[in-house]
Formats: sequence, C-alpha cells, structure tokens
Amino acid sequence: MDCLFCKIIAGAIPSKKIYEDDNILVFHDIQPLAAVHALIIPKKHIASMNEVESNDWGLIGDIHRVAQLIARDLGIAESGYRLVNNCGKEGGQVVYHIHYHLLGGEQLEPLKS
Ligand code: 5GP
Repeated sequence: MDCLFCKIIAGAIPSKKIYEDDNILVFHDIQPLAAVHALIIPKKHIASMNEVESNDWGLIGDIHRVAQLIARDLGIAESGYRLVNNCGKEGGQVVYHIHYHLLGGEQLEPLKS
C-alpha cells in the first residue's frame, strides 16, 4: 500500500517516536506548527474519519486515551492543548491515513479570529 504513515509504522520511513503500543503510534510532526506537535495514528490503515467503521470506534477512543497520556508526559496537560483531525480536502487533510494532531506548548490562536 502506498501510504506514507503505513511506511512510518513499518519503519521504512524514519520518525521521532513518542509512544507505541500494539495499535497506536505517536511521533513528532516533521513540520511542527506549535512548540509541541505530535501525530497520533492507528496502526490499522483507515483513510480518513469518513472510513471509520462501527468496529473502529474503540480504536478511536484509544487514540483519545493516548492523547491524554501523551499530553501529560509532554507536560502540556495543565496548560492546555488542541487535538485535531482533518478530514478530506476542505478539511485540510493531506495524508490519507487517519491521524490526530496534538498541538500545544504555547498559546494557540483561536480556530477562527
Ligand atoms: P494533514 O494535513 O493530513 O492533517 O497532516 C499531515 C501531517 O503530516 C502534516 O502536519 C505534515 O507535516 C506531516 N507529515 C508529512 N510527512 C511527514 C513525514 O514524513 N514525517 C512526519 N513525521 N510527519 C509528516
């Protein structure tokens, strides 16, 4: 499968790993948009939020559980952070392997000003 994040999971493309378990990988974004910018992805290839199936919701919940854990580990839990999923072209999705951006470590701008 020609998927960038599947290649990162397989180790074919290097990444700066933050966390890994049987189902989830977390690594630093290559072009950080904030002082902390991690990507949280399932190891299962799901193209986008639109392709999440009924038996995947536990996995999506797990991603949120890991986001909470990582935010604590990276020291941004108390100051606050943003967890973002971009879905589809107008949502700004570029990589079609579902992922959540964990952003923080500085004051983030409002989504709309
Ligand atoms: P999207 O726009 O699809 O929501 O986000 C894709 C993210 O993947 C972007 O923030 C981009 O910087 C990141 N990204 C793209 N290629 C790579 C890569 O090879 N390694 C890492 N660590 N991040 C990447």
